[in-house]
Amino acid sequence: MLSPHLSDFCCIDPTERAKLIVVIDTEEEFDWSHDFSRQNTSVGSIRSIEKIQDLFDEYKIRPVYVVDYPVAFQSDGHRPLQEIYASGRCLIGAHLHPWVTPPFEEEISRRNSFPGNLPLSLEAAKLRSLGDLIGERFGSRPLIYKAGRYGIGANTADILEEQGYEVDLSVCPCMNYSPQDGPDFTKYQSLPYWFGKNDRLLEIPFTVGFVGWLRFWKDLYSLLLNFPFNQLHLGGVLARTGLLNRIWLSPEGYTLAENIALLRTLHRSGVRVFSFALHSPSIEPGNTPYVTSQTELERFFSQCRHFLDYFMGQFNGVPTTPLELKMTLPIGSGEVRAQVRGGPVSLHSLGIREGDFGLAGVQTASLQASGDVSLSADGSSFSFSGSGVSPFFLPRPTTLSRLLNALAPSTAGASA
Ligand SMILES: [Zn+2]
Repeated sequence: MLSPHLSDFCCIDPTERAKLIVVIDTEEEFDWSHDFSRQNTSVGSIRSIEKIQDLFDEYKIRPVYVVDYPVAFQSDGHRPLQEIYASGRCLIGAHLHPWVTPPFEEEISRRNSFPGNLPLSLEAAKLRSLGDLIGERFGSRPLIYKAGRYGIGANTADILEEQGYEVDLSVCPCMNYSPQDGPDFTKYQSLPYWFGKNDRLLEIPFTVGFVGWLRFWKDLYSLLLNFPFNQLHLGGVLARTGLLNRIWLSPEGYTLAENIALLRTLHRSGVRVFSFALHSPSIEPGNTPYVTSQTELERFFSQCRHFLDYFMGQFNGVPTTPLELKMTLPIGSGEVRAQVRGGPVSLHSLGIREGDFGLAGVQTASLQASGDVSLSADGSSFSFSGSGVSPFFLPRPTTLSRLLNALAPSTAGASA
């Protein structure tokens, strides 16, 4: 998960259409300029979530709401999401803000706000309590993770694997949080890669990159952000002159023109999977520095719409979800072996819709798996010893469909 090798990166056919996943960090409103507090748990802005969901519906996008503990805990938080989830229009993942997630054993500090800095047992316990609560509220444990503050650490991959996760969205390329005791992603790129034992889990980094004439000299940018050069504010000068600009694929703090420039630059360099993200508190004015008034909110929604319009139109892209992507990506070289002990997980929570892969009864079907799996690299041969099967483990829909038909005939063959 940290420092992937070249062989871990997914092979993606460059002739494929660009794919977009949408991720909403769904969390309490807190003043980002203030210290972390356990008391900061208001989730009132979730009442407006349908407004942004309507926009995604228009573009047939099923976003991932990565929800944190206060959102899952309070009815103001989970109720509006339950309705969207029940109608199959979104996926639910987990987002760990340690300072508001029990057990509360650590002292509140900037260092401890990155979950990956906590002792293994505490990081695991917090993620477990978050996963349990999400399971209770939504009927299925989360399979997608995004660390609060992008704070993955040395133990995170093992914890995710142990708790049955499938995809991580925590990597924030080109960013360096080490001055705040967080991870350094300066050398990372916006390319999906496999990680964990047997490369079973998929990392889909947030899309962040450089545009401009000097983009191949990224080290310059890091240099300018550090003392004493940061005093000169040269980063802003470089951005304004178009020489070098670091851009996040987000309407928060970036313009539509910047988002499009990033898409085009990365696409030219071979990137085909894009991850667009925003924070739920931004959908009401006054909660984040990005949206401080009603006028700014309108501009924010309009920018999201124009971006999606561009991506699905002129850019010829298509929407996807992290789990859909995982199921269709070619696996790495060689045979894959893994121990599967997941579930029960509902097909619905995997983002599988009625009719996908020829399946019926998706709303009620769930699967449990326990055993050893091996799969050849081309997906042509598969073996499984144990009970049940984990469909999301499989990278190819054809294999998935065959397998479900063979092992779960009552699920796969049932008519609605
Ligand atoms: Zn967050």
